[in-house]
Amino acid sequence: MTEEQRSTAVVIGGGMAGLVAARELAHAGVSVTLLEATGQVGGAVAAHEVGGLVLDAGAESYAKRSKAFEELASQLGLTEQLVEPNPVGAWLAYANSKGQARTSSLPKGVLGIPLDLDAPELREILGRSGTLRAKLDVNLPKGVGVKSRSLADMVRARMGQRVVDRLLAPVVGGVYSVSPEELDPDLAVPGLRDALREHGSLSAAVTAIKAKNSGKKSKKPGSAIGGLRGGVYQIAQALRTELDELGVELNVNTPALGLKRTGTAWHVTTPEGLLEVDKVVLATEASAAVGLLEGVLVEAADFAQPDASSVQGREIALLTIVVDLPELDAMPRGTGVLVAPQLAEIKAKALTHATAKWPWLADEEGPGTHVLRLSYPEEALAEGEPGLTQALQDASALLGVTVQADDVLDWDLVRWRSAVSNASLGQQTKIDALRAAAAKIDGLVVTGAWLAGNGLVSVIADAQAQARNLV
Ligand SMILES: Cc1cc2nc3c(=O)[nH]c(=O)nc-3n(C[C@H](O)[C@H](O)[C@H](O)COP(=O)(O)OP(=O)(O)OC[C@H]3O[C@@H](n4cnc5c(N)ncnc54)[C@H](O)[C@@H]3O)c2cc1C
Repeated sequence: MTEEQRSTAVVIGGGMAGLVAARELAHAGVSVTLLEATGQVGGAVAAHEVGGLVLDAGAESYAKRSKAFEELASQLGLTEQLVEPNPVGAWLAYANSKGQARTSSLPKGVLGIPLDLDAPELREILGRSGTLRAKLDVNLPKGVGVKSRSLADMVRARMGQRVVDRLLAPVVGGVYSVSPEELDPDLAVPGLRDALREHGSLSAAVTAIKAKNSGKKSKKPGSAIGGLRGGVYQIAQALRTELDELGVELNVNTPALGLKRTGTAWHVTTPEGLLEVDKVVLATEASAAVGLLEGVLVEAADFAQPDASSVQGREIALLTIVVDLPELDAMPRGTGVLVAPQLAEIKAKALTHATAKWPWLADEEGPGTHVLRLSYPEEALAEGEPGLTQALQDASALLGVTVQADDVLDWDLVRWRSAVSNASLGQQTKIDALRAAAAKIDGLVVTGAWLAGNGLVSVIADAQAQARNLV
């Protein structure tokens, strides 16, 4: 193919979706220009330096339910770095019936829905009456809950409100940043409704789903993930290196300002001028995509103002603290703690004990030094010292070990605009409508977490598929 015959594409957005799409197009022989608004590529896959070590500032793991991350990492020469977390499992923090904070190890389950209703930790979390109510699940008529609208409705109908409050809500909040009241059961746990119909109880349904997904029954909660020794951010760096080698023109600090189709050509406005190409991959987060699609895809306007009341914590503040605290060598709360929303005295949504979760990180930090990551709904954490003070209070309550300002070696606060969960009620209908309309427009595909699902494996697989559609 001569240079004149090569088709040309602009990829807008240099997060994982944009990088992966650009790679796919470049491998297919397309001449690609990538535009990234900020000074660096990777988006929510980013690094920061805290306490002398370069750590993940955003995503720090990938789900093992698909091979998308592992295959990409292998193709990029990162096979040796693929690691598994410490299988010690995660914990839960919830409010007991007097509203007091309690912690317990997270029972095995799917999104907090327990597999084993006789597990001792379940009794500890739900109390006697809550456990008895949960156990009704196996005796209730088969049809109860099958037609539920939200995941919370289904779990409430089968196992009672306490399972919703103390198990489902903290786990769902940690994974999707939404309330289970707003989560579509068919999207959050595909096959759950059918499995409930078939097996007649929710615990049997999740057991069947778990066995099907993992092939094993005994995995500790939270262990169906993997990471990269040295940090997940390296995959974005490796993608960038490969794009350079493939001759992709990579422009950082270059936001796309406008998108227009004239005849068969696409025009992308940038601060440096107008680009004319055959194809466009739009791979920004939702807010930017909605603006760029104005006048191109009317369906995008449906994503403009998500119902703020239905989506909790869309903006995430992530505070990373490096502490010198040998008491934490014992990993008192496993890999970390998910927090029930009812627990008013703790503002954090989740705490990750990163040096307990990732053995490679513990080795790098050395004994006695620990990395804690606390995530907050953005408005719940102040800037500067007040924010740190809040985080130390929360960390102490969650870990059962006093963490004081004197123990802190370094800390950093990063604020993220996370995607609206694509598993929220009604969201999939809007996504299908947008995708169907986009499919009718020649030379344009739209990808990214807001459509694919929030999580690296979904984002990678969707970006690959969308880019292939384009060529
Ligand atoms: C704090 C945090 C922790 C997470 N942890 C995990 C995890 O452990 N495991 C996991 O699987 N997932 C995790 N996720 C989710 C995962 O990181 C995301 O789903 C994924 O990285 C999203 O990729 P993306 O390319 O769709 O979007 P983004 O990463 O948001 O990238 C979009 C890019 O588009 C750029 N852009 C915006 N507007 C323009 C414009 N006009 N022109 C050009 N460029 C533009 C942005 O600057 C950005 O770089 C986490 C997310 C966050 C925020």
